[in-house]
Amino acid sequence: MNLIFLGPPGAGKGTQARLIEQRMEIPQIATGDILRAARASKTPFGEAADRYMSRGDLVPDAVMIEAVAERLQCPDTAAGFVLDGFPRTIPQAEALDAVLAGMGRRLDRVIAFEVAEDTVIRRMSGRRICRASGHIYHLDSNPPVTPGVCDVDASPLYQRDDDRPETIRRRMQVYREQSEPLVAFYQARGVFVAISAEGEIEEIYQALLAAAAPRVRG
Ligand code: AMP
Repeated sequence: MNLIFLGPPGAGKGTQARLIEQRMEIPQIATGDILRAARASKTPFGEAADRYMSRGDLVPDAVMIEAVAERLQCPDTAAGFVLDGFPRTIPQAEALDAVLAGMGRRLDRVIAFEVAEDTVIRRMSGRRICRASGHIYHLDSNPPVTPGVCDVDASPLYQRDDDRPETIRRRMQVYREQSEPLVAFYQARGVFVAISAEGEIEEIYQALLAAAAPRVRG
């Protein structure tokens, strides 16, 4: 099952992609996570990407395409993948088509997470992440048992620097201008399904499974 999750930052794509990964053993390929790991390791790629990320801008297409093409070659994607945060532009989507065609694979579903702007702002502002495992919490709707500490491995939680108000505004603008056109791009191919991403995590997960059916049962 080869899936793409589309939707604005803060729509809950990462939370749901991690659930799919845990419950269905289909890897989440989150380009934001790949970039944050590169930045934390201070690789030249990570340091170059940081200049864009900290402003809320997109990292140039060519480097993102190369990173995803490389990741898709890993054997753990044999049974499928969930692309979370990629593609974000039409050129990225076109390049992905070419990469998949070259591998003899195709997309099964492109699932768009529909959510109101005030919901995503609330979700991003309250989002906290585990430094060690990347586990995602929310101060109000999904808080850790002990404030500031991950339930799974007791590592400290942190707030992404691009989850602060000025950068959130810029990321929303970038989404509208550069990523929203992907909806029409994939609608034209008959693989597109939109779900409501408002509400509880489990409720959204069930909507997701239904949207991915009939190819997915889980
Ligand atoms: P995310 O974790 O998906 O919200 O991504 C965080 C940041 O990483 C974005 O605001 C961009 O700066 C960068 N980024 C992630 N994925 C992409 C992509 N597919 N194309 C360009 N930039 C990206």
